[in-house]
Amino acid sequence: MSGVLQPVQSWGRLSRERHRVVVLHDRHRVAETLRASTLPGIAYGNGRSYGDVCLNPGGTLWLTRGLDRFIAFDAEAGIIECEAGVLLKEIIDVALPRGWFLPVVPGTQFVTVGGAIANDVHGKAHHVAGSFGDHVLAFELVRTDGTVLHCSREENPGWFQATVGGLGLTGIITRARLRLRRVQGPWLDAETIPFDSLQRFFELSAESTRQFEYTVAWIDCVSGGAGRGVFFRGNHAVRRDHPPARRARTLALTPPVSLVNGLSLRLFNRFYYAMQRARRGRAEQHYLPFFFPLDNLLQWNRMYGPRGFYQYQSVVPPAAAPEATRQMLREISASGLGSLLAVLKTFGDRPAPGMLSFPMPGTTLALDFPNGGERTLKLFDRLNAIVLEAGGRLYPAKDACMPRELLESGYPRLQEFLRYRDPGLSSALSRRLLGH
Ligand SMILES: Cc1cc2nc3c(=O)[nH]c(=O)nc-3n(C[C@H](O)[C@H](O)[C@H](O)COP(=O)(O)OP(=O)(O)OC[C@H]3O[C@@H](n4cnc5c(N)ncnc54)[C@H](O)[C@@H]3O)c2cc1C
Repeated sequence: MSGVLQPVQSWGRLSRERHRVVVLHDRHRVAETLRASTLPGIAYGNGRSYGDVCLNPGGTLWLTRGLDRFIAFDAEAGIIECEAGVLLKEIIDVALPRGWFLPVVPGTQFVTVGGAIANDVHGKAHHVAGSFGDHVLAFELVRTDGTVLHCSREENPGWFQATVGGLGLTGIITRARLRLRRVQGPWLDAETIPFDSLQRFFELSAESTRQFEYTVAWIDCVSGGAGRGVFFRGNHAVRRDHPPARRARTLALTPPVSLVNGLSLRLFNRFYYAMQRARRGRAEQHYLPFFFPLDNLLQWNRMYGPRGFYQYQSVVPPAAAPEATRQMLREISASGLGSLLAVLKTFGDRPAPGMLSFPMPGTTLALDFPNGGERTLKLFDRLNAIVLEAGGRLYPAKDACMPRELLESGYPRLQEFLRYRDPGLSSALSRRLLGH
């Protein structure tokens, strides 16, 4: 049996179990490699999922970062074709100097094209651009029985919809064709607006969607359910100059305990709010700090110490959003378990490209929590009850512990999706939530 046994983690670093790791280099040999595997496997892109969607302890992990070639770039039409292990950063580096940008980017550029499709990732532009899958024109999917499928909205449309947001469970994506969007340069006209109540957040969201392509808010979840925070909005600017590249720093060591605790949370939230208040107003901002502020400190996930951390991301429908968000913030504040990176955003009313795509019309709240064992899981039980009652759903890309009930209630196309599952693929998440 090929592959090397080694411990693998996801971004949340909650576990470190051994996997049989097989590196994929040659897209023409992927079918042969998958057919030869005796253990069920799953693709591992760049491991930027927080929970267990990209893990398969005891089984095979097919590492896709070796599938890193560009295949074609039509610089007139803005269409790029590449292998699935290419990072979004690598696409931006090639496309931006030619006047193109990805229409949807998540909060880090260090994710692969395959990972972005499999989780149908979203960014700050959902209300105008939808999710990543909306800009995927076609891809090639290899099944573990060696079948190769070409998928697009016209060819194998069922496979297309099952694989976009399909959590890696329908096959391995080897290559994809993506549509880009025109930009003048690397700058954004950005605006920073502090707010002091949740109601104000909803007003700002509503008034910004028509005029601003990008909207997102940070919320102080330590200061109670009032909901003070900072709203960020922006559009691509016409300025074209490229500033000299900045080197990111790295958090080189994992501290013995989490640096995120009650005291540091209170201090950080107070400091961050004060800093953003001082920056209020309009400014030109480079795309790196605007879209990917966390990429400036590589391996920042180590600051949560050896026990790792959870991310909890929900979305609740518009009518329930104000009250459900208020209740969640109140529960979090009362639990004493705050979050540094609490992000609030409104998704637009757009049909999702994938059967299990996470975005739906409503408000999404994403929070990081140090792994505090039972105490943290009890808080999640209370948050889950609020999400369930509100008719919302949780994001599997971030998840490590949602109950099956919440997956079933949140994803009405789950049964349809299951018809497309590849029986040779399995992940820790699929075993936890789907039984195999
Ligand atoms: C700092 C930070 C910010 C983030 N912000 C956002 C955000 O704003 N919005 C958002 O939506 N997400 C966000 N994420 C989550 C991240 O975008 C997703 O988890 C993304 O899918 C990770 O991609 P990856 O290449 O690392 O894939 P992995 O995490 O390695 O894998 C993710 C899934 O994709 C599957 N997969 C990977 N490659 C392939 C392939 N070739 N074929 C088939 N399946 C494949 C895996 O099996 C797994 O199910 C953020 C993550 C971080 C760390």
